[in-house]
Amino acid sequence: MVTSEKGMWAIKWSFAGLLMTALLQAAVVLVSGSVALLSDTIHNLGDAATAVPLGVAFALARPGASRRFTYGYGRVEDLAGVIVVLIVLFSALAAGYGAMVRFFDPQPVAFLWAVVAASLVGFLGNEMVAVFRIRVGREIESAALVADGHHARTDG
Ligand SMILES: [Zn+2]
Repeated sequence: MVTSEKGMWAIKWSFAGLLMTALLQAAVVLVSGSVALLSDTIHNLGDAATAVPLGVAFALARPGASRRFTYGYGRVEDLAGVIVVLIVLFSALAAGYGAMVRFFDPQPVAFLWAVVAASLVGFLGNEMVAVFRIRVGREIESAALVADGHHARTDG
C-alpha cells in the first residue's frame, strides 16, 4: 500500500471507530439525560468529523506536483488543519453551552450504570483509535497521525 493510501485507510477506520463510540454514547445520553456524557459524545463526534477535511487533504495531495502547483497540493493539508481546529472549537462551544444550560436548570440523571458503561465505551473506543493511529502513523512516518493518536489517548 502506498503511504497516502495507508494514511487514508487509517483515517477511514479512525472515523468508523469514533463514530461507533459516539453513537453508542448518544443512545445512553437519550435515556439518561446525562449532560457530562453529552459533552463527551459531542467531543467524539467532533473528533470523528475531523476525518473529513483530513481525508480530503490526503486525496487532493495525492496527485503530486503539476506545472502550475510545483510543490503539489500539500498546502491543502494546512487548510485541513485550520478546519479541524474550527470543528474542535465548535464542539467545545456546543458542549460548554449544554453544560451551562444544565447548570442553571438542573435535571435528574437516570440509568447511572448505563452512563458508567458508556464512559468505559468512550475510553475503549478512544484507546483503540489511539493505538491504531500511533502504529500506522509511525509506519508511514506521519507526525500528524501519531499526534492525533496521542490526542485520542488523552481524550480516553
Ligand atoms: Zn478530542
